[in-house]
Amino acid sequence: MAGPQNRQGNRQARRLDGIPTTIFSTMSALAVRTGSVNLGQGFPDVDGPPGVVEAAVGALRAGQNQYAPGIGTPDLRAAIAAHQRRHYGLDLDPDREVVVTTGATEGIAAALLGLVDPGDEVVVLEPYYDSYVAMIAFAGGVRRPVTLRAPGFRLDPDELRAAVTDRTRLLLVNTPHNPTGTVLGRAELQAIADLAVARDLVVVTDEVYEHLVFDDHEHVPLATLPGMAERTLTLSSAGKMFSFTGWKIGWATGPAGLVGALLGAKQWLSFSSGTPFQAAVAHALEHEAGFYDELTASLQKRRDLLCAGLAELDVDVRVPEGTYFATTDVRRLGWEDGMAFCLALPERAGVVAIPAQAFYDDLDEGRHLVRWAFCKEPDVIEEGLRRLQAADLRA
Ligand SMILES: *Cc1c(COP(=O)(O)O)cnc(C)c1O
Repeated sequence: MAGPQNRQGNRQARRLDGIPTTIFSTMSALAVRTGSVNLGQGFPDVDGPPGVVEAAVGALRAGQNQYAPGIGTPDLRAAIAAHQRRHYGLDLDPDREVVVTTGATEGIAAALLGLVDPGDEVVVLEPYYDSYVAMIAFAGGVRRPVTLRAPGFRLDPDELRAAVTDRTRLLLVNTPHNPTGTVLGRAELQAIADLAVARDLVVVTDEVYEHLVFDDHEHVPLATLPGMAERTLTLSSAGKMFSFTGWKIGWATGPAGLVGALLGAKQWLSFSSGTPFQAAVAHALEHEAGFYDELTASLQKRRDLLCAGLAELDVDVRVPEGTYFATTDVRRLGWEDGMAFCLALPERAGVVAIPAQAFYDDLDEGRHLVRWAFCKEPDVIEEGLRRLQAADLRA
């Protein structure tokens, strides 16, 4: 939604021109207004472990209510470093190679503001998480999308190489990938690594869904590939890992130079992130590793429930390898435009989904794609499917 532009004094800054209201706010408001089942925005409808909530309450009562250090509390940074060692064999100095951010969203913002100069090119996988677009623009960067093409949504190494120029500053990667559900495999990751090493590029990799991977797919952090630890900034977050999206505790890990650049920008954004939640997330990382395995197992069942139901609607469904989203092509229902489909859906069926075209520069690739979230209780997914199956969804 554009800001008020009728009076000169109220006009928004030009840096916001062309950056729409995030589609998630628009569609979640529509869901509330129409009483629809919200299969749009990707937030879980069940909170994370009760023991982690108790840890937050304990920290609040224990007086952990003033500014945390900008870089993050020592306990949380130690827990993040231990997590990276335990899962991936990565060795990090918690004092120089780990920084706590206000969600991965701030990690993305601070990474781009701290590393990208005006005119620098940023290669980004398309469809992209929408905050990437806004923050590349705020930094004065130029985005160079590389499309993961339907139906498989794989990365084409030739297209990736072709997107890199002498002005490329960094590669912005996301795996497991929102919204397609692609988990980049070893060959795809190796292509990214080969290119980054050959062209001496920095890689920022958004791995917030690192533990939400299904079947026998495996999440491989880019930083674990040879030659990558020294050029990779890895972002993650307790929001997706522990189902506390409202807490906004994320982190970045990588070599001290890159972490320092991110922190240089972060100190002027939020300065520091919620103190009692940092204590609770440190507790979660140390004591609740079982949570995300159980979450993944239950999400896989909900994925199968949603995808089977969607397939009965005469849409093409991409069964995701990770994350909590499934993507469909709605053209067989007669819709060329997924935005029109999603705007009609609350009235037709009482369901909200997200038009994936919001995540594309190349509209021919994304116009007809719709994203559905399955991080919802099974009865919510079933109710959504019942409504969809009872409705006339033809264009
Ligand atoms: C949810 C999400 C984020 C934002 O994470 P927060 O910790 O909530 O700020 C970043 N990247 C991707 C791909 C996401 O899906």
